[in-house]
This record gives sequence, structure tokens and C-alpha cells, in this order.
Amino acid sequence: MAAALELDARGHPVLILEREDTLGGILMQCIHNGFGLIEFNEELTGPEFAQRFEEDIRKRNIQASLRTTVLDIREEGGLKAIYCVSPSQGMMRIEARAIILAMGCRERSRGNIRIPGTRPAGVYTAGLAQRLVNIEGYIPGRDVVIIGSGDIGLIMARRMSWSGCKVHAVIEILPYPSGLTRNIVQCLNDFSIPLYLSHLVTDIYGRDRVEGIEVTPIESGALMHEKAFKIACDTVLLSVGLVPENEISRNAGIEIQPATNGPWVDSMLMTTMPGVFACGNVLHVHDLVDYVAEEARRAGANAAAWLSGYRPAREIRAKTGPNIRYVMPMRINPERENRLYMRSLIVKNDAQLEVRLDGAVVKSRRLAHVQPSEMLSLTLEPKAVAAAGRDSTVEIALV
Ligand SMILES: Cc1cc2nc3c(=O)[nH]c(=O)nc-3n(C[C@H](O)[C@H](O)[C@H](O)COP(=O)(O)OP(=O)(O)OC[C@H]3O[C@@H](n4cnc5c(N)ncnc54)[C@H](O)[C@@H]3O)c2cc1C
Repeated sequence: MAAALELDARGHPVLILEREDTLGGILMQCIHNGFGLIEFNEELTGPEFAQRFEEDIRKRNIQASLRTTVLDIREEGGLKAIYCVSPSQGMMRIEARAIILAMGCRERSRGNIRIPGTRPAGVYTAGLAQRLVNIEGYIPGRDVVIIGSGDIGLIMARRMSWSGCKVHAVIEILPYPSGLTRNIVQCLNDFSIPLYLSHLVTDIYGRDRVEGIEVTPIESGALMHEKAFKIACDTVLLSVGLVPENEISRNAGIEIQPATNGPWVDSMLMTTMPGVFACGNVLHVHDLVDYVAEEARRAGANAAAWLSGYRPAREIRAKTGPNIRYVMPMRINPERENRLYMRSLIVKNDAQLEVRLDGAVVKSRRLAHVQPSEMLSLTLEPKAVAAAGRDSTVEIALV
């Protein structure tokens, strides 16, 4: 919606294709607050945040085709052809001059992390459980264990407690939590839910329904089988990471970045398919929706500029330096302001984020605390990279 509003404001007709029967995406099931602190300087719930954008979409008469699933995008006769299907219209082929990919991400499942054990009912991804509780009105179980300390799992620990369920534990393989600190405090500490760091779930048991799990501590990288213990439960929720929804991109031949699992993009957030842009969780998994909205506006503005014939005169490469997992985007326009997002590989207090142009530090910022779960950002002004040559490289490092 943020990208569509930006295109509309610049005079380009837009159509939103959405497979659900409402706009708003994952926000619609996030009925907790904590959204919009940056975007609106207010604390909103997910649906309230989405509603602000939806009201603007309505006011501006931007078309949205709901219950419409995009199956494929192709380059055909100099245009982009979008193949989609809806119960009311059947199969459709829509032509466009540009496309913005904003399909979000999907949750990693039990199969992705290969937890041994039987295959009883009662194992859900945390986001699915969230949808069942908040939208469909079902409680998936009563005695819950959450595997993984990602934000969705933490939010669900609190949600299930509020619903009268007992959340016995959150089990995390890493030595530090994967979710935001504020969620550890508000969703676990406030409800006295224990968080087991450096622990692995080594078995899920139960015949028809989950009856319990086995948890094994990890010490110095080794599983301590003699210290393994069991927790009885009837429900296991998995919060073990998100992966950009990239089937359509991959089928279209768009290059995918291994570090993010989303498309490779240049300084305009344009993928390797000219005229196809990407933003939000389909590009890289964000922590806060406020950053998704900012990035989406940029994708919309860039798509409008591209449609009006703008092309950057030159771009230089942005790459990861020490302790940085990825930098987004992977190209910098030295003539314009560049907004960069990145993720740390380390947990550290009093860290320094550095921008190095061909090895020389051209910008730096002190950060009180960094951890992989919290996205980092910086704005790079043209003056910082004024000395860049044709083969220059900008490296982002954390020291
Ligand atoms: C459980 C949870 C809790 C969160 N808590 C917070 C929080 O407290 N504060 C905060 O700021 N952020 C939070 N976030 C993060 C934030 O909500 C998301 O990062 C953001 O909403 C993602 O926006 P998006 O538009 O990229 O993707 P999505 O919201 O996932 O939207 C993608 C849309 O694309 C549609 N789609 C996908 N494929 C197709 C297709 N083939 N055809 C048609 N339509 C398609 C989907 O139906 C969906 O509507 C949370 C996220 C989750 C999951």
C-alpha cells in the first residue's frame, strides 16, 4: 500500500493484487500494539497501522483486486505480463510497465529444521497459531512449548498466556535471543516464562497428539545428552525464522541473494529483471513494519522515476565487511542520498558501524548495543562517497 500510494502521488495508475480478502498482509493478525512508533510516532496495533494506509488507498481511489493470487510474471512484448487467478474473475493476464514485488515472507517449519520424533498433531508454526487465535477464533492447545525465540514466538507466548494456556518454556538453540529485547521483557519476563538459551529440542513425542518434548543443553558446541530433560505439553509452536516468499521471483528468472533469500536489487531497489522492484519482507526480513513502509515508499518513488525515464548515471558496489550479514541494497548511487539497511552477525555493546570507501572510513556511528535480531540502518549522503571512482566499493563494517 505504501508503494502504491507513492506511485499514485506521482501520477502513475496502480493496481494492487492481493490474495487475501483484506489489504494489510500479516499486520491483520498482529493485534498486539508496538507498531508505528517511527512512522506515526504513536503505538498502534497491526490492523490500526494497516488501516491508516488503507484509508489513503480508498481516498485516492487506488484499485485493489482482492482474493487474487499471482501465479507468474513474465516479460512479454516489451511489457510485463502478470498471470493471476481469482474466484470471481478466473484466470487473468494483466499487462504492466513496472511491477513492485511485496509478497512478504513465510515461516520456516518443522521440516526445515529437522526435529526428530514422531509426527503427532499439535505442532504449528507460531504465525499459523496467531492466525488461528486472533482471526479464526481457535485455541490450538493448552500446554504449550515454543521452539525458537523469534518475535512471533515471543508474541505468541504472551498471547497464549492471555488466552488461559500454560506456556512452559521457550527453547532457543543460540546463546542469545532471536527476537527484539522489548519482546523478551514484555512477553516472557512479565509472564515468568522461562527462556532456555543454548538448548536444542532433540525429540517431539506423542502418538496422536503431542505429549512432550525432550530438550538437550548445548555446552561448548556439544550436546549434553546426560543433561537432557523432558517437558510435558500438548502443543509445540515453532518460531524458527522467516524466509522471503520468492517462488514467483525465482520462476521469473530474478536473481536471488543467498544472504537474504530475497532478490538482488540495485540502488533503486530494482531486481535483475528491469522494471521489477522489490520491498518489504519479500526483499529481506524486517524487524519493524515502520522500516517496511519506508522502504516500500522508496520502491514506489523509484519505480515512478524509472517509468519517467530516470536511470542512475553510475552505481558503485555495496558489500558486507566484518560482522555484517548483509547490506541492502547492494548498489549505491553516489549522486543521491542512499538509505541502507543491514544486519549484524554479532551481539556487542558499544559497537561502531563504519562505512568504508575503498578501505577508508568515510562515515561512522557509535551504537550502544547490536544484535542479529535488530536491523541496523544508515543514510549515506553523496558527499560521503564523492571521491568514489568507477570501480570503487563501499563496505559496511561493525567493529
Ligand atoms: C507475528 C508478527 C509480529 C510482528 N510484530 C511486530 C511489531 O510488534 N512491530 C512491528 O513494527 N513489526 C512487527 N512485525 C513485522 C511487520 O509486521 C512485518 O515486517 C510487515 O508487516 C511485513 O510487511 P510486508 O508488506 O513486507 O509483508 P506482508 O505483511 O506479509 O504482506 C505480503 C502480502 O502479499 C500477499 N501475497 C503474497 N503472495 C501473493 C501472491 N502470489 N499473490 C497475491 N498476493 C500475495 C499476502 O497475502 C500478504 O497480504 C511482526 C510480524 C509478525 C509476522
